[in-house]
Amino acid sequence: MAASLWRTSSCILRRSLTISSVRCASGPPSKAVDQHKGKFPSDDCQIPDSLGHSVGVERYELLAKEAGNDDPFQMKPIKRAKGTFDEPTIVTSPNAKRMIGCICEEDSLTINWMYVHKGEPKRCECGYWFKLADAPVQEYN
Ligand SMILES: [Zn+2]
Repeated sequence: MAASLWRTSSCILRRSLTISSVRCASGPPSKAVDQHKGKFPSDDCQIPDSLGHSVGVERYELLAKEAGNDDPFQMKPIKRAKGTFDEPTIVTSPNAKRMIGCICEEDSLTINWMYVHKGEPKRCECGYWFKLADAPVQEYN
C-alpha cells in the first residue's frame, strides 16, 4: 500500500516538474510581438475581435494572414522539382524532421508518406529525391 502511494505521488510530482520545465524551456516571449494587439475594445468594436480572443498557434496564423502570408506553416502542396540526387525537391521546416507525402504517379489514388530529416536527402519509392531545408523564421506583430 505504501509503495503504491509512493509510486502514485512520485508520478504526480514528476509529471508536474516535467510540465513546468517545458514551460520554462521556451523562454520569455519576444519583445517584438505585441501581446495585446486586438485584445482591447476600440471605437469600432465593443468587444475584442477574433484576433483578440486567439492565442498561440491560432494567433500566429491570424497575424500571418493579416500580414499577407496565407501559408504560414508551409502546408500547401508543392510541385516536385527535377527530383534527382543533385537537384532534390526542397521542403522547408523549422524542425529537424518533417513528414511529407509524395503522389508518385499523376493518377495515383494513394499518397506515399515518409519522414525527411535535415541533412539527409530522402528517396521516395518512385525515385524522386527530397531534401529538408530550414524554413525562414518570421515573427508577426
Ligand atoms: Zn513518390
